[in-house]
Amino acid sequence: MTNNQFIEVARFFSSSDAHILRALLEAEDIQVEIFDEQFSSLTPVDSVIAGGIKLAILNADIDKAEPIIQAYYNNLKIEAGNVCPECNSLDISRDYVTQFTMFCYATFGAIAGTGFNRTTPQYKKCHSCGYKW
Ligand SMILES: [Zn+2]
Repeated sequence: MTNNQFIEVARFFSSSDAHILRALLEAEDIQVEIFDEQFSSLTPVDSVIAGGIKLAILNADIDKAEPIIQAYYNNLKIEAGNVCPECNSLDISRDYVTQFTMFCYATFGAIAGTGFNRTTPQYKKCHSCGYKW
């Protein structure tokens, strides 16, 4: 394999996601090619069948690109709430609060005038550091 050969490093099913990573890599002077982007204009199902949008970089840039790609995926996990915000552990679980806590949320919401937030009765716990959010 030569150093100026493009190799696929990531796949996306959304054009915007692919271009976010491309922008991050290009900011570090890494040359990026995106393949099969035309499929993203089709239905998502067609895009999946086609294997998604491929992002490729030069073989020579792999070492430089790797931490950027890793950070990008870690950010995706953080946005999806699948990583501990305190210690970055992926060993987390999702729990549902008890009826009593539900009652407290509802009562507090009524007093504060914020109402009862239905998205609140769920929290996640990190098994590595014990952090809850
Ligand atoms: Zn943690």
